[in-house]
Amino acid sequence: MSRPNILFIMSDDHASHAMSCYGSRINQTPNLDRIADNGMILENCFCVNSICTPSRANILTGKHSHLNGVKTLGDPMDGKTPNVAKMLQADGYQTAMIGKWHLGHGGDADPTGFDYWNVLPGQGDYYDPVMIDESGRTKYEGYATTLITDFSLDWLQHRDKDQPFFLMSHHKAPHRPWDSDPKHANLFEDGDVPMPDNFFDDYSNRSNAAKDAKMRVYGHMNDRDLKIDKLGPPPDGLSDEEQANWNYQRYIKEYLRCVTSIDENVGRLLDYLEEDGIADDTMVIYTSDQGFFLGDHGWYDKRFMYEESLRMPFIVSYPNAIEAGSSTDAMSLNIDFAETWLDYAGIDIPEDMQGKSLRPVLEGNTPDDWRKSMYYRYWMHLSHHYVPAHYGIRTHKHKLIYYYGEALGTSGSIDEPKEPEWELFDLENDPDEMCSVYDDPAYADVVSELTSELYRLKEEALDDE
Ligand code: CA
Repeated sequence: MSRPNILFIMSDDHASHAMSCYGSRINQTPNLDRIADNGMILENCFCVNSICTPSRANILTGKHSHLNGVKTLGDPMDGKTPNVAKMLQADGYQTAMIGKWHLGHGGDADPTGFDYWNVLPGQGDYYDPVMIDESGRTKYEGYATTLITDFSLDWLQHRDKDQPFFLMSHHKAPHRPWDSDPKHANLFEDGDVPMPDNFFDDYSNRSNAAKDAKMRVYGHMNDRDLKIDKLGPPPDGLSDEEQANWNYQRYIKEYLRCVTSIDENVGRLLDYLEEDGIADDTMVIYTSDQGFFLGDHGWYDKRFMYEESLRMPFIVSYPNAIEAGSSTDAMSLNIDFAETWLDYAGIDIPEDMQGKSLRPVLEGNTPDDWRKSMYYRYWMHLSHHYVPAHYGIRTHKHKLIYYYGEALGTSGSIDEPKEPEWELFDLENDPDEMCSVYDDPAYADVVSELTSELYRLKEEALDDE
C-alpha cells in the first residue's frame, strides 16, 4: 500500500457534543458525519492540556507541554523544535499549514516544516481576516472558515500529484466571540436550543475551583459575547431564569451557526477528494484543539479536566485501512497524532516522542496492553476565568484531579496561592461529574490506587514540577 495523503482538519473549541455523529442533541453536522460513516469515531480522545496554543504544540511535537516549551497561551513554539511536519517534509511529503496557527509569529515562531503556510495572526478575525504568509500580511474579503477552505482547496489543486501530501487546515471557528457567517444568520431562529440538564449547577459537592471559576454563561459573559450591539439587547423584565436562558440561547445559537459553516466547508474538501479520485488514499481527520463547555455546569470555555473540556472530537476516514462505520473506546491522546502519521508514512518514530501510534486502534487491533489511564496538566494558574492550575489522571472509570494551588512561576499565571484541593469522580455513576467522592470512605482504595498511578504517569511523562 502506498503512503496515505493526510488531510488534518482542526477547528478551535468545537466540542464533540455539538456533532451529530457523537449524538448531539442540539445540532446536525452531516458532512462531519460523512467522515465518521466512512471511517472510525474515537469515543475517548483526550487532550493533555485543554487550551488552544498548548494543544497545537502537543499535536505537532507528540510531547507534553512541559517538554515542548508551550505550557500556556503566551508561550510561542520555537521553530527549531522538532515537529511532525518537518519529519514528513524531509521524507518526501508536500506539507502545508493553512488557517489558525496560534503558536506565535515572526522570526523563530513562524511555522516550520511546511512548504507553504498562510496563517491567521494570533486569534485572527472572523470577517475579512488578515492572513500572513512568507511574503507578508494580506487582508482578504470574506468569512474566515470559507477563506481557509478556499486556500486549502487551492493548495490541493496545485500540488504535485506524484507525491503524498500533509495538509493542516485549521479553522478559527467556533472560538469566542462566535461570529457566524451572515448567510447563516437565520439558522436556529425558531424555538429554543435545549439546555444541558446541569446548566443551573450550584457547584456543591465539588472543589472551590468549580465554584470560583468565572466562566458562567449567566454571570460572566460580556456584551460582545452576547452580541448586544449586533443582535440587540434582551427584552425588559426578564426573571433571573429567563435571563439565563436568553444568554444561553444567544451564545449557543451563534456557536452552532459557526459550526454549520465548518461542516459545510468540510463537505467542500470531502467533495474535492472524491472528484480528484483520492478519497481512498487519503486519511481525513476532523478534530478540535480541545473540547468546550456548551452550557454544561452553566459554563462556556475549557481549561478544566472535566469531561466536556478534556474530550476532543476525533473522526478519521482512510478507506484503504480503516473500516467504515467503526468506533473505538480505546483511550487516545493529542500527543498520539504525530506518531500515527509517522507510522503510516513509514518513518521511524523518535524515541523522545511521548504518545503512541494509533494505527492498531484505527485498524481494529487495539492491543491488550493499550493505555488504561492518561495524565493531564493545566498550567495557567487563575489567569483567564480564574481556573486554578491542576493535574490529574483519568481512567475508563474514574478521574482524580489535584488543584495544587500555586502558579510555580508559570508565564501568564496569577501568583495567588490557593488551598490545595482534590476531586475524585466516579464516571460510571456520575458521568456529568456533579459530586466528588474523594472524601467518601467507600472510595478510599480507589483514591490510594489512583494517586499512585497519577504519580507514576507524572514521572513517566518526565514532569518533575
Ligand atoms: Ca481552542
